[in-house]
Amino acid sequence: MRPCLLLVLTLLGIAAQAAPKPNIVVFLADDLGYGDLGCYGHPTIKTPHLDQMAAEGLRFTQFYSAAEVCTPSRAALLTGRYPIRSGMAHNQYRVLRAISTGGLPKEEVTLAETLKSAGYATALIGKWHLGVWANDRPEHHPLAHGFDYHFGLMHSNDMNPSSVSKPARANALVQQQPEWWDAALYRGRDLLEPRTDQTQLTPRYAAEAVKFIGANKDRPFFLYLPHTFPHTPLFASERFKGKSPRGIYGDVLAELDWNVGEILKALKAHGLAENTLVFFTSDNGPWTLMGTETGGSSGPLKDGKGSTWEGGMRVPGIAWWPGKIKPGTTDNVATMLDLYPTMAKLAGAELPASRPLDGTDLSPLLLQGQSVDRGLFCYYRGERLFAARLGDWKIHFITQGSYGDPKAVTHEQPLLFNLARDPAEAHEVSAQYPEVVRRLTEAVAEHRKGVVPVRSQLIDVVTK
Ligand code: MG
Repeated sequence: MRPCLLLVLTLLGIAAQAAPKPNIVVFLADDLGYGDLGCYGHPTIKTPHLDQMAAEGLRFTQFYSAAEVCTPSRAALLTGRYPIRSGMAHNQYRVLRAISTGGLPKEEVTLAETLKSAGYATALIGKWHLGVWANDRPEHHPLAHGFDYHFGLMHSNDMNPSSVSKPARANALVQQQPEWWDAALYRGRDLLEPRTDQTQLTPRYAAEAVKFIGANKDRPFFLYLPHTFPHTPLFASERFKGKSPRGIYGDVLAELDWNVGEILKALKAHGLAENTLVFFTSDNGPWTLMGTETGGSSGPLKDGKGSTWEGGMRVPGIAWWPGKIKPGTTDNVATMLDLYPTMAKLAGAELPASRPLDGTDLSPLLLQGQSVDRGLFCYYRGERLFAARLGDWKIHFITQGSYGDPKAVTHEQPLLFNLARDPAEAHEVSAQYPEVVRRLTEAVAEHRKGVVPVRSQLIDVVTK
């Protein structure tokens, strides 16, 4: 080999060593609304750690979950694909239930698997909700989907009413009685507690995460922390309970915020902050059906969880990476689907081949502040495409209110809103902009051509 070529190769090798793979931490709140954080304008909920994370990082004003409820949203995050492609959506059932036998198909390549293939240690600490694991369904465990370590609940905290202590009141979801719920806590495949004390979940998630970070500080890691809360029923530990002027919802968010603070503190203590991308978001909008006590707020946006109005799917999005991401706020449209290709790129991982991915790499926006046009974004409710956004414009073909609203309205003349001017979707302007209606309708028709629905995983249940 010629000496100069050898020198170049050596220098390239040194450069590669000098840029270690960044750690990746993803926090996913459950049913947290666009208006629920201090840094998104909530007047009484106190979230100082997230506010500081936003001040030091990049706060998105137009970040979207890729579905309007839990299961499809989580499938989208971990596959980078619209959930209709993986069968993780259904018009009637909406999410996986405790009695479901389906789950994320093993053919899907999760973000954890992709990062693992690039040398990452991987952990899921929190709520899974992509399959109810059982001995005869080993494929539904997070450990079968690329996670080396797992601690948490298999699904939402309200899915197994207690077998020993029946709720005394019909509105059990808004009460704070942990013994009313059989929320089974697992570490890996070991059942730790069949009815865990939910008041301790958020601090326990913090302790587990801090331990995982410490144990993996010398190698790249991916920590996925999908919180159990503020999904109802709501529980906070003694330290936070009864402290917030916003009531239990504010207590729960203060504790969730503290949890984020503990994990950022651990990253700093190990000298890892400058080599870690942290992203915070929510799986869908607030569960307004729960009322003002235990349901959240979508701020200026219309409606909440379950709906394809903005409040159902536009959520907080905060990216933090000291020294790499310039502090600021961005109105660049971005979605949960984009996290997969972005994180794979930063990790130097190969994207899964032979399948369509629906996200766009956001790294030019994160690292260079360049705008990224992610193109058409589709709002699915279950398996049906209800609406789509392109640029500032949003078109609705079908509308329906939040979870619980039985009425879907199909619009022969689609509704059109300019979200840059009218984020509340209060002024319908299709008659003024027929060209825009046509352009978005065509873009959606093109999208549909590339989508092959598969049988839903949300249908099948345990038969006795
Ligand atoms: Mg949710």
